[in-house]
Formats: sequence, structure tokens, C-alpha cells
Amino acid sequence: MPEVTIVSNRLPVTLSEDGIHKSSGGLVSALEGVNLQNGAVNWLGWPGKHIPAAEQAAIAGTLRHEHGCTPVFLPDDLARDHYEGLSNSSIWPLFHYLPSYFSYRAEWWTAYEKVNHLFAERILVTAGGSDLVWVHDYQLMLLPRLLKQARPSLRVGFFLHTPFPSFDVFRCHPDREALVTGVLGADLIGFHTFGYLRHFRSTVLRLLGVESEMTTVRYEGHTSAMGVYPIGINARRFEAELDTDAFREQCAAVATAYAGKRIILSVERLDYTKGILRRLEGIELFLRKLGEEQRDRVKFVFISVPTRSGVDQYQELRQRVEHRVGRINGQYATLHNSPVHFMHRSVGFTELCALYSLADVALVTPLTDGMNLVAKEFVACQRGVSPCAAVPDRSERGPGVLILSEFAGAAQEFPNAVTVNPYDVPAIADAIAQALAMPAEERRRRIRPMRERVFTYDAAAWARDFIGDLAQRPPCRPCDSNGVARARGELAAAVAAAKRVALFLDYDGTLREIVRDPAAATPTPELRRLLDRLAALEALDVTIVSGRTARDLESFLGDYGAFGLVAEHGAEVRPPHSGAWQHLDHNLDFGWKEQVRHILALFQRSTPGTHIEHKRTGLVWHYRRADPEFGKWKANQLVDELSMIAANSPIEVRHGRKIVEATSAHISKGAAVTRLLAGGAYDLVLLAGDDVTDESMFQLAEHDPRLITIRIGDGDTRAQHRLPSPAAFRQFLESALA
Ligand code: UDP
Repeated sequence: MPEVTIVSNRLPVTLSEDGIHKSSGGLVSALEGVNLQNGAVNWLGWPGKHIPAAEQAAIAGTLRHEHGCTPVFLPDDLARDHYEGLSNSSIWPLFHYLPSYFSYRAEWWTAYEKVNHLFAERILVTAGGSDLVWVHDYQLMLLPRLLKQARPSLRVGFFLHTPFPSFDVFRCHPDREALVTGVLGADLIGFHTFGYLRHFRSTVLRLLGVESEMTTVRYEGHTSAMGVYPIGINARRFEAELDTDAFREQCAAVATAYAGKRIILSVERLDYTKGILRRLEGIELFLRKLGEEQRDRVKFVFISVPTRSGVDQYQELRQRVEHRVGRINGQYATLHNSPVHFMHRSVGFTELCALYSLADVALVTPLTDGMNLVAKEFVACQRGVSPCAAVPDRSERGPGVLILSEFAGAAQEFPNAVTVNPYDVPAIADAIAQALAMPAEERRRRIRPMRERVFTYDAAAWARDFIGDLAQRPPCRPCDSNGVARARGELAAAVAAAKRVALFLDYDGTLREIVRDPAAATPTPELRRLLDRLAALEALDVTIVSGRTARDLESFLGDYGAFGLVAEHGAEVRPPHSGAWQHLDHNLDFGWKEQVRHILALFQRSTPGTHIEHKRTGLVWHYRRADPEFGKWKANQLVDELSMIAANSPIEVRHGRKIVEATSAHISKGAAVTRLLAGGAYDLVLLAGDDVTDESMFQLAEHDPRLITIRIGDGDTRAQHRLPSPAAFRQFLESALA
């Protein structure tokens, strides 16, 4: 098994004044139980504080040898702008559907990019050639692409621990494209739920115009697999703790402290995503409905772990929560009880287990949560037997009840919890009442399948599944590299020997990237430099073969007098050095155009963002700027309708890249190229294109050994070779002519 490098923003250990401690948080808890069969694990991340340069080597040595960790040292201000800034003030709120908490500064983005680059550099030094690198979470979304670009042989996985939100929220982020394309560098992308995966696919489609399969997406020639891997907990560690004397002592202490009271427990970081204020409203409503005597018998215990205190909104939240708790206690306290016991601190593991085990109810109501491990930990601690002598009636009362937000990822795995909409305050109050009144038998029936799930699909199983799937991903092979290299060599040799060479090149999607507005796809300065070089080569005949109108080609490339230009898929030709366009479509019948124009107009009206292009020999319906799903659905309908006309008229209907086109059936690029080839005795001919209309050219190679054919991008093809993008094709030409 190759070595696995786990990469997360924070290392599983934190450096502080008094030594090295285990870090807190969900990821560390989850990976604790990971014992990867025979494979060595290296964990790479930020050690949590600034380390002066003079001390770095010694600390790196200790971390490496004693903890299997490689630190990425970051200056304080850089770490702050990356972590508290871009990560926690812009990505975190958006990914949790709270755009009103979003804030952004340009320098935070610079820091985010810088930190991702620093991580990449460090990994490239430490990881071997074919190692597995598993990148975690929203702080490192650029990393997969950086790693794959630098070393394609690495197998890179990415796991997102937060939700991936709906595109309508994700699109608010100013750097949305870089974030998504960064993740798409990974070979395997994991999410907690299918819903997050679905949102990711929808974002890739709507933002980048890239269609995907249910579990794969191809972008710029690289295929990423996508999967659902709900994170588990180290359940056995909890199970073992419940058998210790320390646990029993702790239980006795908690039971004494809350004697005679039923505990309703909340444990979380004090984060605005956790729904604490709404929950307190629900508790207030619940208490309002209770009689005074009963109020004495309930205790709402809050463990609110301090977090991100450098971010303003967290300080504000703490004040609001404390104020609200004070109000509830002021109103509902009796001589014997104050109903809410709020602790703004973390607790030790044993104490946490005791609280989980003694709680009658766990109240877990985040507004949104990627997974929520607390829910799983609570379930793991519900053995339904008396945890210690101080609580003899526990087996009669039955195990604790989990009240769980519908919007936590864990709700997907726990249909037996009492689920609640965390925004619905009366529903929270009702759920508390329902849970407290629940008979022991129902409690047992509900907890059993949840415990089974927590113990079978634990942290180790989660990590093994992900790493196993990542290891299965095919090692990266640049597509058809041998064939393309041979073709490049043949072209270079023919040009060097001044043989007669012809290039027939499509324009959009082949020489030039496709853009949303077709009128904006003018040649870039970089493309012009390449075309200038092609034009300067005497022995080379270049023809641009496009579906565009003669007017478009004239305006984009008219000044290249030495080039042949073929417009409207071969209906019109401007031979080299002539300047005059010739029509090759004499005697064709265009009577069908009026009927097609009428149908296209109906589709344009009913599909916002579409338009009709009128060509002399055909009509094109463009839907690139429509909603991609709606546009595609309408396009399929349009193809069906036009096909019926095609049965009785001399037209051909093509569903190309975001277009549906009806042209005369007698016109094709292949026919035009055949005619042009007849006029010149060439030693070698290169044909390149990206769309279905180019296939008629590629077909010619089946009968002519002088022809080399290259398809740019994805899709079925008859071409001999494939290159992933226009940029790769331009590079191909550059290097062949070098
Ligand atoms: N936790 C902790 N210290 C505490 C209380 C809880 O480290 O005082 C742990 C808890 O056991 C759980 C994690 O913090 O493993 C919280 O993970 P969760 O998925 O619920 O939320 P996140 O903090 O990742 O948003």
C-alpha cells in the first residue's frame, strides 16, 4: 500500500506554551480510530501558532518522530487572514446558508491562495511519486488542483466536512470559480450526504457549464469521481471508556450534581450555525408550558466550547446567548433549580461520556451541519443500562432520546431520531416534551438501529472506504500521450523538411475557448501570435473550417489573407489570397427555412436566455445562456420536432455544443474538405475539431493515410487522437512548429 498523506488545516496536535496537545474538533476525533492496514500515514498541517524560524527545525523533528506529523509553518498574519478571514468569515457562513454573516477582503483571498500554495510545496517535498494524498475541508479547496498540476501521478482525494450549499448560495462567493476548479483537481471528491454531492454537481454545471454523471465529472481532460462517505466516530473508544472506573466516578459526580433532575444535554462549539438561540427560544416556550413543580425536575445542560473568538460574530453570539440564558433563568428559576446550566468551556473526554450517558435527552438542533458528530457520540453512549450505582433506575427509564435537526447530515443516517426543523420554535418545544414522555420501550426501539449504524460504520470504516476508493482510481495517464506525441513528431518532421502540409482547423472549441457570448470569441493576442507563425510558414496551407457565418470569420480572421476560410460548415469558401467568398451551395432548396424559423421562434420565446442565429444556409438555436438543465430539456424537445420536418425535407438536424442547428443536408465540413484536398497534392494533412460537425472531417482519415485527426475535448469521436482543451491543442501546434 502506498503511503497516505493526510492534509488538514490543523494538525491533530496543537502547540501551546505548556507542550503539545491533541487538537479538538470533529476531524481529529474521527481520524483517531483510523488504523490504515499496513500503510504508513503522515499528517500534514498547520501547528496552530507562529513558530520562530530558529525553533522550527527542532519542533518539526519532534512532531515527525513522536506524532507522525509534518508541520507547515505560517506567519501569524497569514494564518489569520487565511483561517479567520477567508475560510471562516466567507466560506463557512456561505456553506452553512448564512450569507448575512458573509464578509470578505481581497487580502484574505491572497492569503488563502498563498497558504494553499505553501501546503502544496510542502506536500510535494514529502510525498512520494505515487502516494495517496487526502486533503480535508474548506480551508484547502485549491490544493487538489495545485497538486495534480505539479505532479499528475499523485492520487489526490478531497473530503468536504461541511455541507456543500445550493448553487444559489455558493454563487455569492467572489472566488467561486477558483474554489470549484481547485476541488476538481482531485481524483476522488467525498461528501457526507448525497444532497451535498448533488449541489456540487449542479454548481459545476451552472458555473462552468460542465455536465457530469451521477458519480463522475470530467473537467479539462481530468476525471474526478464523486462519492458519499458519511463520517463516523471512534465508537469503540467511547465503548471502552464506559467500562472504566474513572467514568463511573465521573457519573456519580454528575448524578449527584443533578440529583432528581432529568438532563437535557446540548454539546457544541459556540457557533452561529448550531442554532443555539432558536433552541433557547424553544426551551423558553417549553418551560412556559410546564407547571412550577415540573420545572424543578428538568435541567438543560449546555457545553458550549469556545471557538473562533477572533471573529466578531462569535463574540457577539456569546453575548446574545448568555443574555438569553440569563433571561430564561431569571424568569423560570425556583428555589430548587435554575433550568439552564450554561458552561462556556470544553470538558474532558470522561466527563463528556458521563454527560452523554446520564442525559435523558440530547438536544442537537443546528441550523445546518455537515454531519454533527455529537449526535453519533451520544448514541454510542446509550447502552440503556445503569452507568453507575448512583443511577439505579436507568435501565427502567430506557436509553436517552436523540432530538436531531433535519438539517444535520447525521439526520440522513438516523431516521429513528426525533427529527425537528431547527427554525420551528414550537416544534422544538414539542419535541422536548415528546422525548421526556417517551416510554422506555420506544426509546430502546429507536436507539437500537442507530447504535448499530454508529458501531458498524465508524471512523475507521469511513476512512478505509474513502482511501480504498481513492487507491482504486486509475493512475493518471495523459490522454493518448503516445499517439499525440507521434502525431506531433510527424507534423514537426514534415514542416522541418518543407513538405507540403495542410491544416484544416475548426475555430470555436479548437483554436479558441468557447465563451458564453459567441460574439466575444475573437482571437486572443496569444492565439494571434500562433496564427502569425502558421501564416509565415511557406510550405503550410492553413484552412479554418467553421460553422460560423462568413461575416463572423471575416471579422475574426479576415486579415489572414494566406488562410483559406470555410464558413457555414462548408457552404461558403474564401480561398487563400483571394479575398472573395464563393458559394458552394448552388441549386440547393431552402424552402424549409420558413417552417424551421417559426418553430425556433416559439422555442426562443419559451426559453429565457436563448437566441436564434440566422445563417444563409441554416438556422441555429443557441441555449448556452439558458438555465443548463431547462435548456437541455428544451433542446431535446426541439431536436424531436425538427427531426419530424427532416423526414420530409432536405435538412440535417444537429445537436451540438449548446446549440441545435438545422442546415441543408447536402452541406458538411467533410464534403468541403474533400473538395479542397482535391486541389492540392499534400504529404500530410492535419484535421482538428471539437464537435459533432467535425466528425465528417475525421471520417475522411479512414480512407486516406496522409490524414491525422485530433478531437479536442470529450465526447464520442472517430478521430485518431484526443487533446483535452484548446490550450493543449495550441501547445501541440506550438511545439510541433518549434
Ligand atoms: N468536543 C470536544 N470538546 C468538548 C466537547 C465536545 O472536543 O468539550 C468534541 C465532540 O466530542 C465532537 C466534536 O467536538 O467530536 C464536535 O464535532 P461536531 O461534528 O459535532 O461539530 P463541529 O465542531 O465539527 O462543527
